[in-house]
Amino acid sequence: MAVQTKGFCKYCGRAFTRGGMLRHLESCKERAIALEAERGKRKAGYFQLVLTGRYRKDYWLIIEMRDSAMLEELDQFIRDIWVECCGHMSCFKIHGKQYEPSRMFGDSWGYRAESMRISLSKVLSPDMEFTYEYDYGSTTELAVKVEGYRTGFWKEEAVTILSRNNPPEILCSCCGNNLAEWVDPQGYYDGTPYWCEECLEEQYEDPEEARILPICNSPRMGVCGYGGSEIYPDQFEPDKKYVVKLKARKRTGTEETVGKKKE
Ligand SMILES: [Zn+2]
Ligand SMILES: [Zn+2]
Ligand SMILES: [Zn+2]
Repeated sequence: MAVQTKGFCKYCGRAFTRGGMLRHLESCKERAIALEAERGKRKAGYFQLVLTGRYRKDYWLIIEMRDSAMLEELDQFIRDIWVECCGHMSCFKIHGKQYEPSRMFGDSWGYRAESMRISLSKVLSPDMEFTYEYDYGSTTELAVKVEGYRTGFWKEEAVTILSRNNPPEILCSCCGNNLAEWVDPQGYYDGTPYWCEECLEEQYEDPEEARILPICNSPRMGVCGYGGSEIYPDQFEPDKKYVVKLKARKRTGTEETVGKKKE
């Protein structure tokens, strides 16, 4: 069985699995303090969404999104963080309806899809599930669950990442020793999909020969020409780092002791 990936809580930096994180976010003290401190003139509603690769559940995102934002903005966020390679078509399938980006809209598909230029509040409600597809050829499918809803103050950003899986450690399938840096999509068939730099150089005189793609933290890794996000780093950085905070306190302690000795 695959090991469940963990991710950091945006607010306190503690690490949990996806399910553990959903429970934790309900009771995180740092989050409660942060929400309590929010101020503003306008109120806004926020959906909490959980996104996973439909067949790769070890890749997950827990986000909060303003209910007045458009499906198109959610599409853009998904493209930016997880899937965009060559501007393929995408869609949401919600309650039997298919929503596509209006800029790519046409009747040429032989049916009439709905436009993504519609606010989340018009199509989503708590506890419902829907799917997302990017690229109708080499499709990356995502499952999205509306985990909850809250009202708070207006935030400038439509999307806030609450947590995200840390990049899974993938070993080189050649030496079984080093962390892999490259994925060879063809290698899924011959048993060597993942490559470290050393093994790759040994195998190919000219690494250009290898049709490889970089390892990245996305359910679209190794598909089409996907090379990872150009906007979001693979590792999600929480506002506060749990472990580092403890170390920092120890270090401060030492410095104080040294300081006192000097006096
Ligand atoms: Zn927390
Ligand atoms: Zn592509
Ligand atoms: Zn290797």
